[in-house]
Amino acid sequence: MKKDTLLAHAGRDPEANYGIINPPVYHASTVVFPTLAALEESEKDPFTGVTYGRFGTPTTFALEEAVAALEGGYRAVAVPSGLAAIAASLIAFAGAGDHVLVADNVYGPTRQRVCDLILARMGVEVTYYDPLVGADIARLMRDNTRVVFLESPGSLTFELQDVPAIAAAAKARGAVVVMDNTWATPLYFKPLAHGVDISIQAATKYIVGHADAMLGVITTTEEHFQTVKRMAHALGHAAAPDDCYLALRGLRTLAVRLARHQETGLALARWLEGRPEVARVLHPALPDDPGHSLWKRDFTGACGLFSIVLKDFPKSAVAAMLDGLELFAMGFSWGGYESLILLVYPEAVRSAVPWTASGPTLRLHAGLEDVQDLTADLERGFERLAAAA
Ligand SMILES: *Cc1c(COP(=O)(O)O)cnc(C)c1O
Repeated sequence: MKKDTLLAHAGRDPEANYGIINPPVYHASTVVFPTLAALEESEKDPFTGVTYGRFGTPTTFALEEAVAALEGGYRAVAVPSGLAAIAASLIAFAGAGDHVLVADNVYGPTRQRVCDLILARMGVEVTYYDPLVGADIARLMRDNTRVVFLESPGSLTFELQDVPAIAAAAKARGAVVVMDNTWATPLYFKPLAHGVDISIQAATKYIVGHADAMLGVITTTEEHFQTVKRMAHALGHAAAPDDCYLALRGLRTLAVRLARHQETGLALARWLEGRPEVARVLHPALPDDPGHSLWKRDFTGACGLFSIVLKDFPKSAVAAMLDGLELFAMGFSWGGYESLILLVYPEAVRSAVPWTASGPTLRLHAGLEDVQDLTADLERGFERLAAAA
């Protein structure tokens, strides 16, 4: 099945549900068994079948099945947020005395919360590596390197990684390769087909797609499924059934939404390249972006999230620009139907390769609004920026 067809059909079975198109929302804690034998049988493999609410209900399994099919993985595990998915995946493979390699441009909380707080307390040593390292990651591998973590393009600055080269070098030394694939979604990049073992989605973003639920999904190869699932369990991660339902509903329209996010994002990026206030546009689908050739080789599309670096404007002028925007709202997260803009500070979350751009960085999310309305909103913003400078 091609991916658009999978989006429409994966993870549902109307015949098993009165012919109703969408899987129902099952709320559950206790699941009862008719006999002692049936109860004891269920304990042999608690990750299969319906045994207790925390282990998932048929609604959870429907979402997991659909995302695993899209990612081309063995099975998936749904957890209550993208960050929960990242934490569970890292903790599953690294313990005291181990070493992990993490790309320098990962999502901020992956670095500051999962690595610098949780892993540090566990006695796991973390080295942040230059995301452009490619096959030279081999030089950073140690005998105790258990995990190599990738995110491509990276958060805030959108550098592309050579995923197959890094994955091959990591696996040659026995490390598990984990990738945050939220930006591309499984529609525009398939980590497992490029040598990655575990692909993470902050489903909160494009899969849910409507800014109304928090969810993470971890898709793994057969080899690593039990390890990840057991850790997600041990952490008590139970994805809420209503949120799994919203994610499944969001999935059905993912391809049409993403195509529009991509088109509008690229149109805005090209327009921004021509603006005198802008020093750089960070968008891998632009032909002169440093990551463009890797993007073209490995990805089949771009989402609506990218950044720009402004020329040297004072923060007060940036505030004048942002405060008056009518369509671009300021707020965390992205992936919904609405356009967003955020002043970000990459220099605060880089250690291997310092971020040296001198002007302020703005991250934009192109929503589903009309692109001319969006451009006009930004144009008025630039007028305020220049007037306040
Ligand atoms: C938002 C985000 C996450 C975290 O997802 P939550 O559901 O907010 O916990 C992880 N990775 C990336 C790249 C993100 O943008």
